[in-house]
Amino acid sequence: MISTDAALSRPFRLYASESGEPELAHDAPQRTQVLASVPTLARKLTGADYAALTLIGRSGQIEQMFISGMSQAEADKIGDPPVGKGLLGLMIPDGDIILVEDRSRHPKSSGYPDTHPPMKAVLGIAVEDDGRHAANLYLANKPESGPFTEEDSVSVESVARLAATALENARLYEREVRARHIADESRSWLQAVISEARVGILVIDSADGSILLSSPEASRIVGVPLESGMLPDAYQSPIRCFAPTGLEIPYEKLPFSETRSTGKSSGPLEVVCQRPDGGRLPLLISAAPLPAGGTRGGAVIAVLQDVTRLKELDEVKRDFLSMITHDLRSPLATIKGLITELVPSLDGDSELHSDIEAIDEEIDQTIELVSNLLDMSRIEAGAYPLDMEIAHLIDMSGDAIARARRSRVGMDREVKADVPADLPALFADPSQLGRVLDNLLSNALKYSIGPVILHSRIDEGGGGVRTSVIDSGIGIPGEDTELVFDKFFRVTGGPRAGRGAGLGLAICKAIVNAHGGEVGVNSTLGEGSEFWFTMPVYKNTITDQN
Ligand code: ADP
Repeated sequence: MISTDAALSRPFRLYASESGEPELAHDAPQRTQVLASVPTLARKLTGADYAALTLIGRSGQIEQMFISGMSQAEADKIGDPPVGKGLLGLMIPDGDIILVEDRSRHPKSSGYPDTHPPMKAVLGIAVEDDGRHAANLYLANKPESGPFTEEDSVSVESVARLAATALENARLYEREVRARHIADESRSWLQAVISEARVGILVIDSADGSILLSSPEASRIVGVPLESGMLPDAYQSPIRCFAPTGLEIPYEKLPFSETRSTGKSSGPLEVVCQRPDGGRLPLLISAAPLPAGGTRGGAVIAVLQDVTRLKELDEVKRDFLSMITHDLRSPLATIKGLITELVPSLDGDSELHSDIEAIDEEIDQTIELVSNLLDMSRIEAGAYPLDMEIAHLIDMSGDAIARARRSRVGMDREVKADVPADLPALFADPSQLGRVLDNLLSNALKYSIGPVILHSRIDEGGGGVRTSVIDSGIGIPGEDTELVFDKFFRVTGGPRAGRGAGLGLAICKAIVNAHGGEVGVNSTLGEGSEFWFTMPVYKNTITDQN
């Protein structure tokens, strides 16, 4: 029954003993103990002289063999691990039971070594596990013992099923252990990432807002020791968050609260965090939902990034830019002043007069360009503080229309206001909102020849007050309406004169957004445009005026 032409280097363990039963260490795994009992049980049920259970590894080689009815010395004599071929190999392709009265007469009988104990009748069955041939159970009789019966094969079948169950359980158990090991490893990696991260990480239970996990950096940033299990009251009340404009942001508006209630990613939001010791820190907060797992509901992961260093760099950049622009603007203003002084001395020289006008216009455009560049860089550096106060659109629009009428493009043009006096007050920076109105009015005048209307009403969509600047000018091609608020974007082609850097509308959008409003445009090419923006009204906007 055993062939010796083996791949000798493979791992192989033989379990046999002087008592004739497989011998195991007392702490052998349960799987090994069950498998070791299989040949003994098969012998007891059939009265066979010998029984062996061989386990076949994934490589197809026999890796373990449990022998019953043979002493350790006899088993050792057989030599190298057997290979399932010849008579044994028959079981491999079809998994059938082999029942042979005299194995030496079987046509496939081959390769029994001389040292093998004499055997005559053989009964064998393949054991399947996980869809593969995983083991063989053999029974053999000495030549003087009789053949095996059909009854014996029925008994052996049930023993083989026991072996199959033991193999399956062991496989499932190993898979579970491996999964647990991977989970433990991932958990410890996650812990390492969280504690080493240069950003604050906070994982919050979606249901009650309690802290599930937090990184040391998160505690450092907020100045409060954050611990697992802390409820929102405990970690929120000592900390306050403010928008860069100075308005306090209620907790429900912070990204992790928003994600908790909407289930969607939120942020990054720039805030200034005021810690219990009174210290203030600029932060970027973003949050994302973590899906519910098998044992718990969903969670929210919040990332807090201390941007103090970036702010300091921005400040250096801002100082540098304002120095440069100041140095550029001052000589331009001087030249403009000198030119204005020259005009009376021209003495009716109309050619010289129009040259001086052209120079004056160029200087105005260059001053506007330099101012826009400076403002844009301030906005991008987040250094565009708003000086908020209770403000009324009727006043701001009146001032803006007066400025537009005095401007070069607005002279002799019809600019009308349609702003009801009883519109609710806004909480806004009037000089910055004035800039928005100036920009929209000057564009409307630049790109049309007809009347321009400034129109304000309560926003039907709930955005507070909606203000539009309407012209019946050249309009904007449909594909460009999405882009006109982008930095440096200019519509090309058509009768578009004048110079600009494509910054005016980007600055308007930044100012309106900083107030909590929205901007947009409705335009038809060749018919005109309506540029609009919304502003939250005073009672909705203010939560804390500091
Ligand atoms: P710029 O400073 O170059 O004018 P803006 O950001 O103010 O930049 O405007 C961007 C582009 O949008 C301009 O190039 C212009 O073609 C187009 N645009 C702005 N306002 C109007 C308008 N009222 N009618 C038609 N086109 C406009």
